[in-house]
Amino acid sequence: MRKQFFALLVIIIPFFCNSQNVNYVHKVIDTLTSPSFYGRGYVNKGDSLAANYIAQQISQTGARSFNNNFFQSYSFGINTYPGEMYLATDKVELIPGKDYIISSSSPGAKGSYKALWLNGSTFLTQTEIQKFEKKNLSNTVLIIDTSFKDMENNKLYTAKAIIHATTHNLAWDVSEGTKTNSFLYFDVSREKIPEACKKVKLDVESIYKTDYQTQNVVAYIPGKLYPDSFFVFVAHYDHLGQMGRETYFPGAHDNASGTAMLLDLAQYYSKPENASDYSIAFIFFSGEEAGLLGSKYYSEHPLFPLKNIKFLLNLDMESTGSEGIKVVNGSVLKDEFNTLVTLNEKEKLLKTVRPRGEAANSDHYWFYKKGVKSFYIYTLGNEWKEYHTPTDVSKGLPMTKYDELFKLVTGFIGQLSRK
Ligand SMILES: [Zn+2]
Repeated sequence: MRKQFFALLVIIIPFFCNSQNVNYVHKVIDTLTSPSFYGRGYVNKGDSLAANYIAQQISQTGARSFNNNFFQSYSFGINTYPGEMYLATDKVELIPGKDYIISSSSPGAKGSYKALWLNGSTFLTQTEIQKFEKKNLSNTVLIIDTSFKDMENNKLYTAKAIIHATTHNLAWDVSEGTKTNSFLYFDVSREKIPEACKKVKLDVESIYKTDYQTQNVVAYIPGKLYPDSFFVFVAHYDHLGQMGRETYFPGAHDNASGTAMLLDLAQYYSKPENASDYSIAFIFFSGEEAGLLGSKYYSEHPLFPLKNIKFLLNLDMESTGSEGIKVVNGSVLKDEFNTLVTLNEKEKLLKTVRPRGEAANSDHYWFYKKGVKSFYIYTLGNEWKEYHTPTDVSKGLPMTKYDELFKLVTGFIGQLSRK
């Protein structure tokens, strides 16, 4: 018995040490993407539920808060779809998130409307344009084919709704939702709209929340030697939320993966053997999908001086990696980028570490604009293609190079600490 027990330990211990964090990370991603968080958006306070969970997780690491709790509250205006989301062409009901997405600036509507097709051959003559300009479109849904070119015509936007028949992959976006338009707009898979479609039935419920209360979650682990100087990890924990009562966007890759990595990093740095000479801050932003709003607010209301940040790493979409990583600002901050590349080669971690110029595509942006040295790292690889779809789920999320990325990131901070 005893002998067997020891033999088992030899096998299990190294395995456990390597995979313990990945198990934790999967657990966090499972939780954040579950239906009870409503896609971490603005319906049923999904983002606040996620914030509470994150605060509870980070408090368990022993990390501290700057104020009397981990939250930094702020607000913005946002359009939401908490209820009905029904779209049918000639009585064929389409599936939200799969067959179509709604532009988040769309108001609600209910009724049956006449369909009018516009394609590449519409508006060929001056007479046809004049005829179109005179129409009353308030009870018409325009179906616009990809071949239609005259999108500048303002008359289009007097219609009840516009259906854009597209052959592209559908990806929802909520950044348009900070304002609302007078017309509804849908992207619909071309194959789902019958050519002869005469009627469009709509039932869409929208609520514009003028002063939606949300929060960033902020924690830190004090440095041993230089507590006033910080390395900062950031990740957005919000996602797109609900598109109607039935459809939510789990956002596993975007960005439960980066959120989980931040919590894992907090666990790592809170262990005495990994304690850093510099303070390490962890900022979980909300409002990213609404237009980088949480990071903008934080950069304008920092909880410690921005000039005390030695370096900031933004982790957003980290579950692939078979093709390496991309580093936004890598071609601008050449010294730090070389440190990263050299470390990667020495430790044989990722296939490639590719640089990119500055980009306003995630939360590092406002910090970078204010002179804070920062990288935004995201993983590359075709093993996960779900992006802004209801199928960006936890199940099957590859996490291909999670361990390697974790080692690279912590090694990089270690090297910068010694400079
Ligand atoms: Zn996103």
